[in-house]
Amino acid sequence: MTNIAFIGLGIMGSPMAVHLANAGHSVAGYNRTPDKAQPLVEAGGRAADSIADAVQGADVVCVMVPDSPDVETVLAGQGGVFGSAAPGALVIDFSSIRPDVTAALAEQAAAKGFRLLDAPVSGGEAGARNAALSIMVGGSADDFEAAREVFDVVGKTVVHVGPSGAGQTVKAANQLIVAANIQALAEAVVFLEAYGVDTKAALEVLGGGLAGSAVLNQKKENMLTRSFQPGFRIELHHKDLGIVTAAAREAGVVAPLGALVAQLMASARANGDGGLDHSGLLRGVERLSGRTSENGEN
Ligand code: NAP
Repeated sequence: MTNIAFIGLGIMGSPMAVHLANAGHSVAGYNRTPDKAQPLVEAGGRAADSIADAVQGADVVCVMVPDSPDVETVLAGQGGVFGSAAPGALVIDFSSIRPDVTAALAEQAAAKGFRLLDAPVSGGEAGARNAALSIMVGGSADDFEAAREVFDVVGKTVVHVGPSGAGQTVKAANQLIVAANIQALAEAVVFLEAYGVDTKAALEVLGGGLAGSAVLNQKKENMLTRSFQPGFRIELHHKDLGIVTAAAREAGVVAPLGALVAQLMASARANGDGGLDHSGLLRGVERLSGRTSENGEN
């Protein structure tokens, strides 16, 4: 049994913390909005009232917050992990953030006697709920081994991909692939509907061929029923595609499709869809095609 602090109990963090508590670990969770700690408490965990409270006696500190500035605040800000946790603690950042920010935070962590792994995840809300996440880990091999007891509880495919920041670079590539897939699926759905095809049947057969994908399996229902409750918010995918386009430019490589889906994601956000699941890209295809959803939301 390990003493674990878990900071950020949102769509992803909450089920992950619950799995860790169910696995027998002692988990203290902190969330800015306190009522989100309720599922963890019901699983036998403790609701902490501050980061400092959560990290008291913690051997492992897990973080799952939205963006780079949030991770900087949680780790290095006033009352944050670096100022409150016991040196030597292993800090696992599951958030998807900029690789350069991760690398800078890892240096700060080392200077203060902490070990930091970047461990962004893929698999969506379903992956978090089913403890079936893919986890791409950057950091030292020793720290990766030490974190295995945590990774194995929440993940299914867990791979050490390189030094600090490498996990975030792999996650950026993941987000490029996922966005392009969702956009293609959305375009196919609007296209099929325009021809009056039985879209459910069409997606069933497409799912069995080369067009099949985890995106198709997990997102087809959202698109068919126009239910875009997150899931993974467009706002967050917009953040990730900003990381992709900036990092590609920095590396001197071009990602034309990435640039295009970044624009389409930005358009979805600008049209007020930032809080919807990223399968809501379909609404943008409808807008561009001059079509409205059957439920009249567009
Ligand atoms: P979320 O539901 O918005 O949860 C984020 C949590 O972080 C919230 O509980 C929020 O607290 C807390 N938080 C936000 N800013 C904070 C700050 N500055 N200080 C302290 N706490 C803060 O987001 P999510 O969907 O779980 O995503 C979390 C991370 O996982 C993101 O980096 C995202 O890109 C990544 N991710 C998400 C998915 C997915 O399908 N959702 C999949 C893979 C990866 P409040 O409750 O007070 O707002």
